[in-house]
Amino acid sequence: MELAKAAEYLKNYDGKRIKLMEVCGTHTSAIRQSGIPSVLSDRIRMVSGPGCPVCVTVTGYIDRLIALSRDRRNVIVSFGDLMRVPGSVMDLAQAKSEGADVRYVYSPLDMISMAEADREHDYIFAAAGFETTAPVYAALIAEAEEREIRNVRLLTALKTMPQAIMRVADGIDGFIAPGHVAVITGTKEYEELAAKLKLPFVISGFKAEELLASIYALVRMTQMGDSGCLNLYPQAVRPDGNPAARERVFECFEKGDAVWRGLGRIAGSGMYLRDKYLDYDSGSRGLDTDAEAPGCKCAEVITGRCRSEDCPLFGKACTIQHPVGACMVSQEGACFIAFSYGNKL
Ligand code: SF4
Repeated sequence: MELAKAAEYLKNYDGKRIKLMEVCGTHTSAIRQSGIPSVLSDRIRMVSGPGCPVCVTVTGYIDRLIALSRDRRNVIVSFGDLMRVPGSVMDLAQAKSEGADVRYVYSPLDMISMAEADREHDYIFAAAGFETTAPVYAALIAEAEEREIRNVRLLTALKTMPQAIMRVADGIDGFIAPGHVAVITGTKEYEELAAKLKLPFVISGFKAEELLASIYALVRMTQMGDSGCLNLYPQAVRPDGNPAARERVFECFEKGDAVWRGLGRIAGSGMYLRDKYLDYDSGSRGLDTDAEAPGCKCAEVITGRCRSEDCPLFGKACTIQHPVGACMVSQEGACFIAFSYGNKL
């Protein structure tokens, strides 16, 4: 169907009320930025899911980073968006302002040369992420091994998506599957999820027209009672994904339980360095504390049970300048996006 006709259909849709979840924070951002919610019928509600890595990282992990940063032998290296995620006492930015050596980089591999040039310190990367970023951390470890650079470490908060999607599926009528994750995993995991949940999934690109086409496909599938996984992003997502990247990850990491902010403990949804690489680990297991700031609704927002605007702190005590919860920190966080673009969810 032509895009204009699909848009017309979505605008005039008057079937049963449906709730669709876009799992990935980059999709949430693209949907809001392009104004898609404002052209949808009131009977179609889009909610964001647990696909922002910073948003689902628990306070216990941030607290561990802060504790490591207090040891003057350590240099903490991170992507910028983790710097302001609140721990139970402070965030990394505050630790830095109090004298901790905290640096941010655009690629984890940059840390290798930093560590090589300064053997006096241990360089610890804050490795939070999903299947998408795990191959980069595996590459970092492989390179450190090859170049015999022993003063690099990871503090991992690596998670896999399917189990989390199972956890949030109650009340959801269809999913836009995480596109970047599917580039690595392929379509099979989402076909299996669709079959287990008896719900439609669409793997989508990130352009407005691709997302509109994906939402149209999902609405049509819900109308017809179809479950299954449709790959509308075939230019990037192959059925078997990226087996070489998965192999690198498997060599380096093993599965374990992980605690997600707002979702609790999910069996087998974490990735941890294997025993043979434990010298590169900074104590990543057991960082389970998940302490929300009073009044913060991140747990409900991440699971599609609450809109960001319905949090009493939204735009008042909690803003991009002064975030109270993790969802207001990352550019992939639902509250950050709602605050930035402001159209109806
Ligand atoms: Fe948490 Fe702030 Fe979002 Fe409320 S607006 S849910 S306090 S991040």
